[in-house]
Amino acid sequence: MMECIDLRSDTVTLPTPEMRAAMASAEVGDDVYGEDPTVNRLEALAAEKMGKEAGLFVPSGTMGNLAAVLAHCARGDEIIQGSKGHTFLFEAGGSAALGGVHSFLVPNQPDGSIRLEDIREAVRSEDEHEPVSRLVILENTHNRCGGTVLSKAYIDSVGDLAKELGLKLHIDGARIFNAAVALGIPAGELVRAADSVTFCLSKGLCAPVGSVLCGSKEFIARAHRMRKLLGGGMRQAGVLAAAGIVALETMIDRLAEDHARARRLAEELALVPGLEVDTLRPQSNMVYLHLADWVPLDAPQVYERMARLGVKVDAASRRGFRLVTHYYVDDEGIERTVGAFKQVLAEVGQVLPG
Ligand SMILES: *Cc1c(COP(=O)(O)O)cnc(C)c1O
Repeated sequence: MMECIDLRSDTVTLPTPEMRAAMASAEVGDDVYGEDPTVNRLEALAAEKMGKEAGLFVPSGTMGNLAAVLAHCARGDEIIQGSKGHTFLFEAGGSAALGGVHSFLVPNQPDGSIRLEDIREAVRSEDEHEPVSRLVILENTHNRCGGTVLSKAYIDSVGDLAKELGLKLHIDGARIFNAAVALGIPAGELVRAADSVTFCLSKGLCAPVGSVLCGSKEFIARAHRMRKLLGGGMRQAGVLAAAGIVALETMIDRLAEDHARARRLAEELALVPGLEVDTLRPQSNMVYLHLADWVPLDAPQVYERMARLGVKVDAASRRGFRLVTHYYVDDEGIERTVGAFKQVLAEVGQVLPG
């Protein structure tokens, strides 16, 4: 059986041999007592990379975002966030379910941004009938908008507006290093205007588990309490943090290769009869595409046939796919993916009448 090419997500990445070695030899202690030297080292390194005072190692990006919301907001407060945001769509409604925090949804523009006017208009009045506006969330890169990159100038302008309006700014930067590499600037500069930022170690950076939430010392002290409340206080977590340190030290710059392969994938898939590529010039590591109207299969059926050829893609909607490039997809993987799509669509093309 040939090896499978898995483009469903960059979360499928496995720890590298260097990470395994670092995990095996990691110095550990009880992190709930603050005594795990490897976790402490990861948190300091993450904070430095984000240009913030402190970091907090959490088991997932979802917990990082939720701990941030709980540290910024009280019950009855409101978040202004994009309608296509991960925090709204894909985090099980945690801010409402566990925080009693309401959401005001504003449209995400095709580039992943939220219009400044929309933020300004979303802010509530002092009237006691209304929730209290507290927090703005941006996502960078923006997953559902196609792995799009928000610029530093845009984030700075949202930061200025948030200050003017008395709001906090959180960035869901699950893939902030993809954004920084795409822009050619350090991540810390990109998120300077944010009060807090979460990023994932376990996606394109290939660590097995974990995210880091960063912000001011005082904010992280509150988030630390929220992590405990959420059951995310871990003990000898240094075995995981060790892989995260290798991720931050060695896996960031190479993300440019994933972006180049995503561009190549988009260009080549655009030439396959039956496919229509939505992200013709991907800005990071994601390609979104859909089936042409004439194709007599839907996305899950195409997924099944592709998987039999050893290529897994994410059927993101009834007729659409998301393909995510990462460390374990090389040039040959791109060729095989294009070949598998061609084969599946040629087969169904032949049975079409006329
Ligand atoms: C993956 C992801 C998260 C967090 O996901 P976890 O699976 O909980 O680590 C948050 N935001 C975005 C945009 C993501 O892609």
